[in-house]
Amino acid sequence: MKRMPVPLNIRDFSQVFRNNGHSLYVVGGAVRDWLLGIENNDWDFCTDATPEQVMAMFRSVIPTGIKHGTVTVIFRKETYEVTTFRTEGAYSDRRHPDSVNYVTDLKEDLSRRDFTVNAFAADCCDGTITDCFDGFRDLKAGIIRAIGNPAERFSEDALRLIRMCRFCSKLGFTADELTFESACSLSQTISCVSKERIYDEMSKILMTRKPSVGLNMMYETGLLKVLIPELDRCASIEQDKVGSDNVLAHILVAVDAAAYYGYSLTVRWAMLLHDIGKPSCMKKIGNFTRFFGHDMKSEEIARRVMLDLKFSNAMQEDVAVLIRNHMTRYNSSWTDGAVKRLVNRVGKQRLDMFFEVLWCDRIASDGKSGIEETDLLKERIDALADQPMTLKDLAVNGNDLYNAGIPRGPEMGRILNALLEMVIDYPTLNNRETLLGQAELLLDSKTSAGK
Ligand code: ATP
Ligand code: MG
Repeated sequence: MKRMPVPLNIRDFSQVFRNNGHSLYVVGGAVRDWLLGIENNDWDFCTDATPEQVMAMFRSVIPTGIKHGTVTVIFRKETYEVTTFRTEGAYSDRRHPDSVNYVTDLKEDLSRRDFTVNAFAADCCDGTITDCFDGFRDLKAGIIRAIGNPAERFSEDALRLIRMCRFCSKLGFTADELTFESACSLSQTISCVSKERIYDEMSKILMTRKPSVGLNMMYETGLLKVLIPELDRCASIEQDKVGSDNVLAHILVAVDAAAYYGYSLTVRWAMLLHDIGKPSCMKKIGNFTRFFGHDMKSEEIARRVMLDLKFSNAMQEDVAVLIRNHMTRYNSSWTDGAVKRLVNRVGKQRLDMFFEVLWCDRIASDGKSGIEETDLLKERIDALADQPMTLKDLAVNGNDLYNAGIPRGPEMGRILNALLEMVIDYPTLNNRETLLGQAELLLDSKTSAGK
């Protein structure tokens, strides 16, 4: 029998359950990852004690997910998420169980879980691992297999379709044949799942070491076609890139590059969506395929996708700006003004991500050529660092203009941008007095032009 080492604080915590006649287990990912030798700091616990019984055992308990039997216990300053063993009623909406019933048998609880390798439980007192569904066998063989009948499990909760792709991606596993076939035939049902859960699960795929594994599986099962049809279409568009014969293949190499370098989730989403507009921009010119204007088109489609998947506003803006500028090709003939205008377009706070996007796109296009230019552009930007490039660098702000009699609104925006244009070309003019004088002139010229 395999035993998982249980840290002392968790053993002490579980002793309280034992003293009250109950048991405590760590379940799911933490046990699976320990068996695989992967670090996992997200420990989920389950118990035969009801939430009320858990609440009676400890002084500090927060009913975080009480509807599903989950409470958060604070014990010696550590927090523990504990869920009562449960079975689930029918899933008429393919996303939530109609009812949840508490049970006292561990096996019953494990049988409601999604995949065999996610259904291990380790006793928190002595670490012994329970494996009711041949999880050890599948872990050894590198297989993601639904527990019981795959079609039934996917019909209960369609999110499991993407979870299958995520675990294959995270663990480098393949899906069991029957599980995979069921996923293919049920791919349409993914549209029943809330967009927030889809965003979370896809983000988790993007954060794996090789996201292309999970994303490819989303493509093969038909999930991508339902969720982001424009991205799915990229697979049927041929292009002349080294190493990738179609646009989706190129995109996936770029996403893997972002993962390889440990770049942020924002950059990974940007890489996933950076060429999504190519299918609508494709032109055949002789033997070549060209995609004029695809940066703008990709931004437009990406904004729609991000809105649909309920990205935060900040994330939408970051990804959109990165996509819009991903075709930037620097050469030494650029004026200082052109360099500064680029910084203004991208935003200083996004410069690192901007260079990361260029780098991943290059790697996925033609190896590493063009990197020298990127380094030179970085040097140019550094050399101009103390010159004004963005509205924040102006010696006046909106309040100053307001106090000088310029009404707030689009007119003020127009004047601030005109002042910025001026100081980008003539940095010495960036002082309060000159700018306020110029602002008044700009306002007057607008007013007299309107007469
Ligand atoms: P990770 O370490 O990547 O978070 P995990 O296995 O811990 O992986 P979680 O999403 O944290 O995954 O879920 C914890 C456990 O809860 C899973 O291992 C699984 O047993 C169960 N589980 C979670 N979501 C579902 C679901 N939608 N359907 C069935 N079981 C689920
Ligand atoms: Mg987890």
